[in-house]
Amino acid sequence: MFRGSIMKSKELFERAQRVLPGGVSSPVRRFDPHPFFAAGGKGCILESVDGKSYIDYCLAYGPLILGHAHPRVVEAVERQIERGTTYGVPSEGEIELAETIIDRVPCAEMVRFMNSGTEATMAAVRLARAYTGRDKIVKFEGSYHGAHDYVLVKPGSGAAAAPDSPGIPEDTVKNTLTTVFNDEEAMVELIDGMGDEIACILVEPVMGNIGCIEPENAYLNFLRDVTRENDILLIFDEVITGFRLAAGGAQEYYRVKPDLVTLGKIVGGGFPMGALAGPRQIMENIAPAGSVYQAGTFNGNPVSVTAGLETLKILDDKMYSSLERMGSHLRAGLRDLLSDMDLEYQVAGPASMFQIYFTEDEVRNYADAKKSDTELFMKYFHGLLERGVFIPPSQFECCFISAAHEMDHINSTLEIAEDVLSHLKN
Ligand code: PMP
Repeated sequence: MFRGSIMKSKELFERAQRVLPGGVSSPVRRFDPHPFFAAGGKGCILESVDGKSYIDYCLAYGPLILGHAHPRVVEAVERQIERGTTYGVPSEGEIELAETIIDRVPCAEMVRFMNSGTEATMAAVRLARAYTGRDKIVKFEGSYHGAHDYVLVKPGSGAAAAPDSPGIPEDTVKNTLTTVFNDEEAMVELIDGMGDEIACILVEPVMGNIGCIEPENAYLNFLRDVTRENDILLIFDEVITGFRLAAGGAQEYYRVKPDLVTLGKIVGGGFPMGALAGPRQIMENIAPAGSVYQAGTFNGNPVSVTAGLETLKILDDKMYSSLERMGSHLRAGLRDLLSDMDLEYQVAGPASMFQIYFTEDEVRNYADAKKSDTELFMKYFHGLLERGVFIPPSQFECCFISAAHEMDHINSTLEIAEDVLSHLKN
């Protein structure tokens, strides 16, 4: 479909390094010896400029739940672009997309659209601080909420490799407290005595930026209770899990309703988008209804709104069941393969999210994830890549399945994984 020449990526990477810091536009995209450059994508297949094709489980780090270039999304976007790409005045699509979100996501009664997950968590923290009149926020070690200052403390994702970014004044993050995921006692201890200074607990309901770590049993319910008891806002960062685990995201999947939710990735249907949603009583504090400032030239951009709306229209219950089936089959298949080999491993993930950790112990939090053998993981990544399967190039990211994948893709991936895993120790 896409024509390329051997070694084109290498040449492009050399050129890129002269003009893009590190040769890429976002850190995790870089891997050794060089990333491949995309020529195009269709369904679950991503093609490189070198003429190779890959079954894609990175899916642009989560947004592409329908795969690349879904024909209905492409058509809707083309129609929109002909009528303009941004207006600077409201358009009806924003209302329709907000109504669709409110219909599906339990805690949403009002929505503010913006352009990225980073913006959404930044606005959520500001709103929580203003609403509670408190300055401290709590996040988890290894959780990633975007690249802004408030949350770049013990982060996951690309920042897990270099956790303390220069350029963030100590003063800016002195109110950002961190604790251990899945550990009730640690949270109780943290809140003890300072509960009335904490504005919010910001949590990825499934930690998707340090591999893939699910909340244990009633951990999210515990967070719900402890925040309610201390008048702290509970914010679910569902930039990954929103519209992925279920139509209503993690709050539907795990049946816990937070106070606020941040959305991104899937909500923009493959275009830049972030959103903050919650009850009217809190959301009406956002300007111009209230005084908490949030603004953006491209907020509610009609192209992203159209793509997001079309994507949400396409996603139905049947698709979620099929994604769940493919995820279970893939995880069970990987466990089967690994159980026959002389390797320590954990296979993690709910629904259409998955990851392997090469470690003996169960992975319940950041410290456990950091114990896994990342060198072995990179061998596994390269083995898959050589054989035509693309997963994110880091232990500390999560893999995704799209509705464009079919059982045949999953089964051939398992065959390839068997070959790769059987050669790993050599
Ligand atoms: N929150 C979570 C949970 C994320 O996974 C990400 C991005 N991977 C973000 C926030 C930031 O989103 P963006 O990259 O769109 O700014």
